[in-house]
Amino acid sequence: MPQEPKFFKNSTTVAIHGLVQNLRAEGQRIYSLSAGEPMVDTAHFYKTAVDEAIEAGHTFYPPAAGIPELRRASSEWMNREFQTDYQPKHALVTGGGKFAIYLTLLSLLKTGDEVLIPSPHYLSYPQMIELVGAKPIPVPASSEKGWRLTPEDLEPFCTSKTRLLVLNSGTNPTGLVYSKEEIEAFLDFAERHDLWVLSDEVYSGLVYDDFSYFSCATPPRTRDRVAVIQSASKTFGMTGWRLGFLFGSEALIQSCEALQSQILTSTSIVSQWAGLSAFQQAEKITPMIKKTMQERRDIFYNALEKGLGVSLSRPASAFYAFLPLSLFGSSGLSDVEWCQKILKEAHVATVPGSPFGRADYVRMSFGEKPEELLEAVDVLCKWVKKN
Ligand code: PLP
Repeated sequence: MPQEPKFFKNSTTVAIHGLVQNLRAEGQRIYSLSAGEPMVDTAHFYKTAVDEAIEAGHTFYPPAAGIPELRRASSEWMNREFQTDYQPKHALVTGGGKFAIYLTLLSLLKTGDEVLIPSPHYLSYPQMIELVGAKPIPVPASSEKGWRLTPEDLEPFCTSKTRLLVLNSGTNPTGLVYSKEEIEAFLDFAERHDLWVLSDEVYSGLVYDDFSYFSCATPPRTRDRVAVIQSASKTFGMTGWRLGFLFGSEALIQSCEALQSQILTSTSIVSQWAGLSAFQQAEKITPMIKKTMQERRDIFYNALEKGLGVSLSRPASAFYAFLPLSLFGSSGLSDVEWCQKILKEAHVATVPGSPFGRADYVRMSFGEKPEELLEAVDVLCKWVKKN
């Protein structure tokens, strides 16, 4: 036999999501607090756009960088939202935000380069960085400081090999949103150390209460060293359409376009036309999803606080609760064991904290519909009391 296929670690969230779907397909009642998606009904806009695109004969290979209409609409959206001056040549349409991240890492990193990642972090960053032969350097933040880091915290982790800083304001899993001043300080730090910044802004549309979103792309001086990741998944509720975006310098976009042309050819054309309709309706769709998610956050937290008899601080963005296992009296179990136990015994699906950088935490999503959230929290709290 030739050499075995290589071993790769599965994305924990994708694996759990798959497991939930399989268990449901077997007829089991599973309460899902694991979904990384806003469960909202917006698909009628997209269905019309797809029907029209197919009717017009748009079913063949689109250009590698995306259909011109979508490159234009997405860059104009960035300009409106974040006062940038992107043109279509600064936008690349990709098969999901995740793929935009991977293309950027492939383009910017060489073997042995080091990448700073504020932690807790989105679980795929370290794996993707390792896949391109570079080294992830997580920089730990503490919950006592609201998970916030400053450039001073990054400084001791910066070496002559550091080449890129990952920022994810609107953080998965903590919901942290950095202010304008904080982002500017990180950009100054990147400039001082001559680093690229990969700014994952996929939750920029889902920011709650009095928080406002400041994009790393806004300050003109550092714009060319910033690669902005955006996605239709969360902003437009289009997770299954696999539609993401990269915004950056013309050189970066050309490099990633060439890579994409070799690896993927281009992004599904029907998803692109649906995405175009989403940008045209962005002022309706995103506020609707944001309002829905903020309501679900409060429904989820009110129920959990009541059920456990505690008071918790709420995330400023995204749709995740990142909670210490100690809150659930986990009695010596690891995060993975606890998540397995509650899935097996109470049929509640949650995600362990270790892939996000904190093995003493668990991530729960409040992206599901209110009835589902309320039932899930009820079952969870009863199970916790029994254990
Ligand atoms: N970045 C972050 C922080 C995320 O949470 C996600 C999805 O959960 C992604 C990127 C990828 O999004 P997608 O590939 O669906 O566009």
